[in-house]
Amino acid sequence: MADEGRDQPHWDAEAERLRKSGAEEAIEWVREKWGEDAKCPYCGTDQWSVADLATFLVGLEGQALPMFPVTCVNCAQTVLLSAVAMGLFPAEPRG
Ligand SMILES: [Zn+2]
Repeated sequence: MADEGRDQPHWDAEAERLRKSGAEEAIEWVREKWGEDAKCPYCGTDQWSVADLATFLVGLEGQALPMFPVTCVNCAQTVLLSAVAMGLFPAEPRG
C-alpha cells in the first residue's frame, strides 16, 4: 500500500525526468536560495553534495513525498529538500 504513489505512471515520468536533469536543477535551486557559500550549521563547512532525487518519504496515507538529500561533505549532516516545494515535482499526480 505504501508503494501506490510510486507506481503511478505519470509520477514515474516526472521521476524519470528528474533522474536525468534533477540533480542539476536542484543544485541550481540550492545555489540560488542558499547562496554560494552556505555553511553547515554543525561544522561550518561550506561544501555540500546534492544527490539525485533518490528519496521518497511516505506519508501516513501512503502518499510519496519526493525529496532531494543535500549532504554536508564534512560531517554528513543531511537536509531533505521537498522537490514539490522547490517546484521541481508536481504536488499531485497528474491524471
Ligand atoms: Zn557539516
